[in-house]
This record gives sequence, structure tokens and C-alpha cells, in this order.
Amino acid sequence: MKKNWSGNVQWSPASIALPNTEEAIQQLVVQAKKEHKHIRMIGTGHSFTPLCRTDEVLLSMDNYQGLVSVDKTTNRVTVKAGTKLHRLGELLYKQGLAMENMGDIDRQSIAGTISTGTHGTGTAFGTISTQVKAIRFVNGLGEIVDCSEEQQPGLFKAAQVSLGALGVITQITLQCVPAYKLELINEKKKLSEVLNNYAQINQSNRNFEFYWFPNTEYVMTKTSNLADGKADKTGLPTFFQEYLLENMAFKLLCEYAHLFPSKNKWVSDFTAQVVGTSRKVFHSHKVYATPRLVKFNEMEYNVPIDAYEEVMKEVVKCIDQHNFPVHFPIENRFVKKDDIYLSPAYGRDSAYIACHVYYKKPYEAYFKALEDIFKAYDGRPHWGKLHTLEAGELAKRYPRFDDFLQHRAQQDPHQIFISSYLKTLFFP
Ligand SMILES: Cc1cc2nc3c(=O)[nH]c(=O)nc-3n(C[C@H](O)[C@H](O)[C@H](O)COP(=O)(O)OP(=O)(O)OC[C@H]3O[C@@H](n4cnc5c(N)ncnc54)[C@H](O)[C@@H]3O)c2cc1C
Repeated sequence: MKKNWSGNVQWSPASIALPNTEEAIQQLVVQAKKEHKHIRMIGTGHSFTPLCRTDEVLLSMDNYQGLVSVDKTTNRVTVKAGTKLHRLGELLYKQGLAMENMGDIDRQSIAGTISTGTHGTGTAFGTISTQVKAIRFVNGLGEIVDCSEEQQPGLFKAAQVSLGALGVITQITLQCVPAYKLELINEKKKLSEVLNNYAQINQSNRNFEFYWFPNTEYVMTKTSNLADGKADKTGLPTFFQEYLLENMAFKLLCEYAHLFPSKNKWVSDFTAQVVGTSRKVFHSHKVYATPRLVKFNEMEYNVPIDAYEEVMKEVVKCIDQHNFPVHFPIENRFVKKDDIYLSPAYGRDSAYIACHVYYKKPYEAYFKALEDIFKAYDGRPHWGKLHTLEAGELAKRYPRFDDFLQHRAQQDPHQIFISSYLKTLFFP
């Protein structure tokens, strides 16, 4: 039995393949084609949607990790697709390089990361897929396909976010930057102050995000800026903030709110009260990622930046009115537009709003109420996080949906990479 990170998706594949060469991956695809079987790839299984679920062949990329090549003149690095981000961070650091931006954990594989449009925050940066300069994959005919901005550019735009529907990605070339340090500052602020100034805060900081504590007027802001020359600091405040407060103590509070649902507001308020100012200066890949030891289920939507303030005000109103028993903070991040067919940030500078529910609690009514708001503002769901949209709705929200599907059909004519869940996303 396999399950994803939060355990909300569980499945029993007929077989699990762990290839360690590209040839072995090709053979698996050729075999599947011959036997009319379907294949689903899994990176780390950190998606909340059933993207990796299959009762046929599950292809894990865990044995296919590491650097393939490093070009020091261009700072481009080619990496095996199963490489986990935390491992990649260390490998790049040894080469004097780093990723220009990351999300808030580093457990995912690089292929899984780009395949769902995973993002960090910062208005100067696109999703992680925008750091990709070339992709190599094994298509549904067992052929090796290389694409980049220069080589088959249309196919490349489809491959940068592909949900594992084009083929098995084997290698990814990333545009990296020289290694750098970040200074991260966490502070408590008022929601009204942040909503009135988010554009200016974004302009004056390299990376800015904030968490609103539901049913309170408080947020925790996180700002990161380049910290060249400053001393490393990962002392007690960081340990307290990241391990004790954000994880262990928070887990106890989650259990308490789970056992006594009427205490959710108190927990949210208490969490907001204890947030203080903390500071950390360290190598970038150690700053973006924080431990996530408390399990939750999550929905996250991308909305156009012009609608963001209104959407967030509606979210606050909705939570107030419905009296939802929630205390997990709502995360707000900001991402630059791109031109990738299935990227939620396609063609528009964006804000991402994410809501979480402790993994033992039901989330359906809460997520539905917020999803209705996001949908009304042309929201596009994060592919790896819970949502209810299917092909008809998705096609309206993604201007290049059909272009993606055309490339998909060419690369996988026998639908080897289509699962029952992917059918709901792609075929009305
Ligand atoms: C605690 C937590 C924190 C998170 N934080 C963030 C965040 O900060 N920002 C954000 O945007 N998202 C975040 N996510 C979501 C997460 O980044 C995505 O769901 C991501 O896809 C997970 O990577 P993975 O390696 O686990 O991929 P999986 O979930 O294993 O797979 C995702 C997709 O990639 C496909 N895939 C995997 N390998 C290949 C391959 N070699 N070739 C082709 N397709 C492949 C799979 O088939 C599937 O469709 C978070 C999730 C969790 C659980």
C-alpha cells in the first residue's frame, strides 16, 4: 500500500519499478506499451491530489538521482529527474551554485516539483519551472525526447509543467545562480497593515510572504533579502521558531483543537499571540526550506494580482461568517507571470492563497467555501493541492490548455501515462 505525504490518497499499485538508468526507463515504457499497461511516476509523493495513484505500474525515481553535468560558464546544471531538492541544494552548494528561488520545503524531487508548477514567493521570480532551461524525457513510444527554448519550444512549454502526462522526465537542466546567503526575518503585523502595503513590501524585499491567523487580526510576515558578508546565525531563536513553535508545540495545539473543536478560535489567537520576531542568516537553500512535521491537507489557488486584495478580504469575511473551526494560518505568496502552458501563473503576475486543515480533520466544507471565492476571481488551482476542477473548467482557465493536450497526444498516443484521475483533468 502506498500513500502520499498527508495520507489522504492511498493506493495499491500492481508493481513498483525503481529504474536506475535511462535505458531501464525506456524498457519499462516499451514493455507497458506491449502489454497495454499504464504507468504513473512518483517523485516523493508530496502532492495532495491523486496524481501518483495507479493500480498498475508505479515508477519511482528514487534510484535516479544526482548531477549529470555542470557548466560553470553559464551556471547551468543538468540533474537526474529523481533528485530530491535537499540533496540538490547541497550538490549545487559544493559547485558554488544555488537555485534562484525555492518553495518552503525541500523534500520533493526536482521532476515532481516542476511537474505541478511548484513555486516559492517573490515578485521577481516565476514558478520553479521557469528555472528550467531544457528537459529530456522518455515518451509513450519509448523514445528519448529533448526539448528546450531553442529545440522544439512548443513542446518545451508543455513539458515545463506536465503532471507526468507527456512521459517520464529523466533529466532537467536548470539555470542556477552563484551561491548566496539570505537573511530571513519573521515578524508579527496586523493584517490590515499588510494588505494596505503588500505591493510596496514586495518591492522592497526579495522574498515576501505572510500567514494570516484565521479569526484574528494578526499575521506573521516572512521577508528574505540577500545577506552577503553577514555572519551565519541559526541559533536558539531559529530552533525555537522552526522546531518547537512551528512544529512540536503547534502539533499539540492541533491535537487540542481536534479534540475540542470549540477551541479553534482560541488556538488561532494563542498562536498569533506567541509569534515574535526572529531572524536567521544562512545559505539560501537552508533558509527557504523549513521542517513540516505537522501533517495537514491543503488547497492553494493562484489568483491574478489585481484581484488579490479583494479575494483576501472575501476570504476573511467568509471565515468570519461561517465560523469554520480552523486555526491553521492562511499562507499568501506572490509570483511573477510566465508563459508555460499549464502553469497557474501563465500570462499574469499572481498571488497564491493557501489554506490548510490538520490531517485528522474534515476539510471539505471549508475548502469548498474558499474555492467558490477563488473560482469567482478566475482562480487556477495548484496542481499538487486539493481542488475540485475538471477538464471543462480547467480548459476555460488555461488559455493554452489545447496546445498542451495536442503535444500530449503526440508524445503519448497510447495513453500510457493517463490514469483515471488524469482523465478527469484532461478529457471532458
Ligand atoms: C509539506 C508540503 C509543503 C509544500 N510546499 C510547497 C511550496 O512551498 N510551494 C508549492 O508550490 N508547493 C508545495 N507543496 C506541493 C509540492 O511541491 C508538489 O505537490 C510537488 O509536486 C511534490 O513533489 P514530489 O516530488 O513529491 O512529486 P509527486 O507528488 O511524487 O508527483 C507530482 C507529479 O509529478 C509527476 N512526476 C514525478 N516524477 C516524474 C518524472 N520523473 N517524470 C514525469 N513526471 C513525474 C507525478 O507523476 C505527479 O504527476 C508542498 C507539499 C507538501 C506536502
